[in-house]
Amino acid sequence: MARSGVSRVDSSDTRERASDEELREQREWLRVTLSSIGDAVVTTDTEGSVTFLNPVAESLTGWTQEEAAGIPLERVFKIVNEETRRAVENPATRALREGLIVGLANHTLLVAKSGTERPIDDSAAPIRGAKGDVTGVVLVFRDVTERRRQERKIQDALAYAQSIVATVREPIVILHHDLRVKTANRSFYQAFRVSPEETEGHLIYELGNRQWDIPKLRSMLESIRGDASPFQDFEVEHDFPVIGRRIMLLNARRVREGDGISELILLAIEDITDRRLAEAELRDSELRYRRLFETARDGILILDAATGKITDTNPFITEVLGYTQDELRDKELWEIGLFEDKGASQRAFRELQERGHIRYDDLPLENRGGRRVEVEFVSNVYQVDHRSVIQCNIRDISERRQLERARVQTEAMADLHRRKDEFLAMLSHELRNPLAPIMNAVHLLGLERDSETAPQQQARSIIERQVGQLRVLVDDLLEISRITTGRIRLHQEDVDMRIIVKGALETVEPLVSQRKQQIAVSLPQEPVWLHGDSSRLEQVVVNLLTNAAKYSDEGGHIGLSLEQEEDDLVLRVADSGIGIAPELLPRIFDLFTQAERSLDRSQGGLGVGLTVAQKLVEMHGGRVEVSSALGKGSEFTVHLPKLPRGRESQRQPTEARHPQLRSFRVLVVDDNTDQADSAALLLQRMGHEVRVVYSGPTALEAAVDFLPEVMLMDIGLPVIDGHEVARFLRQDDRLKNAWMIAMSGYGQDSDRERSHAAGFNLHLVKPFSPRELEEALAAAAGKSSWRSALRR
Ligand code: ADP
Repeated sequence: MARSGVSRVDSSDTRERASDEELREQREWLRVTLSSIGDAVVTTDTEGSVTFLNPVAESLTGWTQEEAAGIPLERVFKIVNEETRRAVENPATRALREGLIVGLANHTLLVAKSGTERPIDDSAAPIRGAKGDVTGVVLVFRDVTERRRQERKIQDALAYAQSIVATVREPIVILHHDLRVKTANRSFYQAFRVSPEETEGHLIYELGNRQWDIPKLRSMLESIRGDASPFQDFEVEHDFPVIGRRIMLLNARRVREGDGISELILLAIEDITDRRLAEAELRDSELRYRRLFETARDGILILDAATGKITDTNPFITEVLGYTQDELRDKELWEIGLFEDKGASQRAFRELQERGHIRYDDLPLENRGGRRVEVEFVSNVYQVDHRSVIQCNIRDISERRQLERARVQTEAMADLHRRKDEFLAMLSHELRNPLAPIMNAVHLLGLERDSETAPQQQARSIIERQVGQLRVLVDDLLEISRITTGRIRLHQEDVDMRIIVKGALETVEPLVSQRKQQIAVSLPQEPVWLHGDSSRLEQVVVNLLTNAAKYSDEGGHIGLSLEQEEDDLVLRVADSGIGIAPELLPRIFDLFTQAERSLDRSQGGLGVGLTVAQKLVEMHGGRVEVSSALGKGSEFTVHLPKLPRGRESQRQPTEARHPQLRSFRVLVVDDNTDQADSAALLLQRMGHEVRVVYSGPTALEAAVDFLPEVMLMDIGLPVIDGHEVARFLRQDDRLKNAWMIAMSGYGQDSDRERSHAAGFNLHLVKPFSPRELEEALAAAAGKSSWRSALRR
């Protein structure tokens, strides 16, 4: 057609021939062109009947040129809407009708003769004749299946990318090249508490009150705009007004937009605040652990479980084992003395692998320096980074073991001590029993002193003195064992200290006169009241006076004074004796403390007297002091709290401790015949009518027969003991009012209570002096339990 412009004009024939040839040539040119182009071409006449199909059109429609020629175009070129499946108006028809070039509507499917459908893209244009009139239509179309597939692929890929962006937990913002936000994903909105409305279309730096206006981000985005290479792991720390301080890792890259021209910036924001915190915590905890490890007072070894070799050690282990840390590295446990040999070490190792831990409470160890150490060894296996590691904790327990041994020794000592105390208690108790009858017997002899010869008198006074001393010793022994076993109880009442002092003077009188010593006594005129246990206090004074006599030469001087000083009552016992060495003074009140003395131990004593005195005084709320110098004598001062003023006035001084006795019928019962007989003799001498029996059964008989007013009965009788006899007799009306006195070696409160429960009126502890016996009888006369008589 374009060639028509190049036709030449000749003679008419030649012109005709020439124009026929030209026409053929043009047709051929047209045919070849249409056959070789990639688009399908169909032409119609003005009626819309097909006049021509090129090979591509033949293949797409399924019609051949021959078949289609003269057939209406609608049959050959059947098109429907892709979605509605309705017939679409043929563009060729419209081009014919309107004489215009018509483009095809989108989504058109060509239905081929065979029924095959394929998407096409087409256009139609009218063919105009020489006069400009429409002579037909040319329809050009092409198969767009492949293009569609490519488009869909792109769309799918885009949707895929979008869904990834939407679902990742990492906040992502997509920016236009001018840094306005195109969009952002849900994570972004959630993480930074902003809405899509206040985000999309805005400049990133203006978002949320300019909270994204971060200088570092600015420089990063500016440089990515200039340079296409992506930014990776750009760390930014920023204080956001709403969500606080965050540490973020930013990743950005430029991406081409769908139109293939403009570019977008994809900005991924990873909030690593928590990770950083966790890392910091981990570092801290590692540091703490390390510090612990370094400063632990336990030796710690870390071993590789695979090789059994030491990989790490703390400083303390070097102290225990005697190796430096360097020397320990790569060693096995047996090489550093922790196990006897390689075999033992390997056995322990196997056990450790099987059970996960081993423990030896006591592992003997010779350290490098040859020092024997006892260690506690605990070992555990644990996993570190998929590696098995062994930790051994080694504690030097030598000191603890030593302490334990010392404790066992102390306990053994304490046990020995306790048994010694028990032995002393038993011994003193047993010593008392023979003392009582001896004392009674000597007293009896003394009653006959008018008729005795000089040697008799001398012998008697020797016995008297020695028995007196023996008794003091035994009493002290007994007392100390009571004190040490905590079994002492004071029976306190308001007493006049002068009377106590007088009693003590009487007791020591035989010793003092034997030693030809003088006692200068100074007592106040008025009674000196205090609240105390008179027999215990008398014991204190006796002990001090006895010492004064013992540790002074014959003919020496002893001074005793009693005074009132403010709230205290002060008793002083001074002597002109040997005195006490200065080194002994601080310990003088300790149990068994004694000065060096000659082998014959002429002064005797057990070293308990002062201890007893001090303890008793302290139990009364007082104190004892001593001042002494060698060769210059000694002075012991006792301070005791006085009775408060108000209480004193109520008391009437009573000197009369020995009321006049009347004669009683007395039954004496004791299986110790010496004791029984001597007591009976004494009582007879006192003017009483006495009968003696030596057992429980005979006591029962004698009691009914003799009807005693007073009974003096031993508790520890064989067959029927004293308690039983008393209980039985108490049921007899005739003996209901008899005055029953128990005699026992035991003087605990519980012993007294048991006597009382059995029906006794009084409880005398053996050995008792004739004076105590007298007092017990006096109590019978007054029919009142006289407490001091109850006591000893
Ligand atoms: P004992 O007299 O039985 O040895 P004490 O406890 O009464 O026990 O006395 C302890 C020691 O204190 C005595 O052995 C003696 O060495 C010393 N001692 C006590 N009183 C005096 C004193 N008045 N003068 C010198 N030494 C004394």
